[in-house]
Amino acid sequence: MKKVNEVNSYMAMTFEALRHILKKRATILYPFKEREKVHVPKGFRGELVFYLDKCIGCASCFKVCPSETIEIIYDGQKRRPIFYLDRCTRCQQCEEICPTHAIELTDNFETVGFDRKEKIVK
Ligand code: SF4
Ligand code: SF4
Repeated sequence: MKKVNEVNSYMAMTFEALRHILKKRATILYPFKEREKVHVPKGFRGELVFYLDKCIGCASCFKVCPSETIEIIYDGQKRRPIFYLDRCTRCQQCEEICPTHAIELTDNFETVGFDRKEKIVK
């Protein structure tokens, strides 16, 4: 009886495998390729970008940032922020408060790196 059950289950497995072999693949090949097929949901908060030309140096972003990601410096011409993105929690408060839209959270989800210096946005 045990042998019959085993044969039945192997047949069921084979049938299931054959049935799916003819179907379209449900997964994608990311991260090796097909990045464009990765579904990024609407409203996703990815890596931050900063537009220096729009910045008026008001420091509002610095004041609201809960994770001390932002430092305000004087670069010889104007007051402006720099961002240490390895600390960023992507709360989006800086983007919301910025009066000139100089900060934007993009849908870039590939945010890991090997060197913290790569994550400094000036
Ligand atoms: S998204 Fe939040 S944590 Fe990141 S820099 Fe802006 S305020 Fe700071
Ligand atoms: S809130 Fe906007 S304009 Fe003000 S310092 Fe930050 S980036 Fe510049």
